[in-house]
Amino acid sequence: MEHMEGLCVTGCERCPELVDSRSRIVNGVGPDDADLLFLGEAPGAKEDEGGEPFVGRSGSVLDDALREAGLARADVRITNCVRCRPPDNRDPTSDELSNCRGYLARELELVDPELVVTLGKVPSQHLLDRGVAITNESGSVVDARVGDASYRVLLSVHPAATLYDRSQREGFFETIARAADLSGLADSADGQASLGDF
Ligand code: SF4
Repeated sequence: MEHMEGLCVTGCERCPELVDSRSRIVNGVGPDDADLLFLGEAPGAKEDEGGEPFVGRSGSVLDDALREAGLARADVRITNCVRCRPPDNRDPTSDELSNCRGYLARELELVDPELVVTLGKVPSQHLLDRGVAITNESGSVVDARVGDASYRVLLSVHPAATLYDRSQREGFFETIARAADLSGLADSADGQASLGDF
């Protein structure tokens, strides 16, 4: 695929406004054969600066929830629907989402995760191709077709939602624990913990 080498996109200029607003293309991070893949919307300021998805305050909420589920960031793959930072943190447009969709489809095809977790409304709507009331639907498991394949998807609120509304924290942590379970990673985390006990 043009502009994509393995899991990394380089030199893509399909979205003129994003090419102007980005400092770099932010590719996914984590194992290239991860069982669990988290999908966010787009890089924000911190991600654009650091070149990694979900750093900053939202990233620490995600890290905390992963830790409580017995996982580390290094166990999972994290990527975004669009790889370049939109100006003034606006939502990506439907053209931008569709410009970048082929890269996401390719990444999903290569990583082939057991479970995809959509973090927030935009990635949920993008994968399911329908309107999603994310606060109500968070925790649901659905199948979504991306490219030529179908994936099991767990819908989740965005980790930042827990910063604006503390009452969402428990639900978010439960969803991440469920993700660890459904992807099969919870078993290996338990295994490691019990080995560590000896
Ligand atoms: S968002 Fe995706 S399609 Fe658009 S310029 Fe960046 S890498 Fe290319």
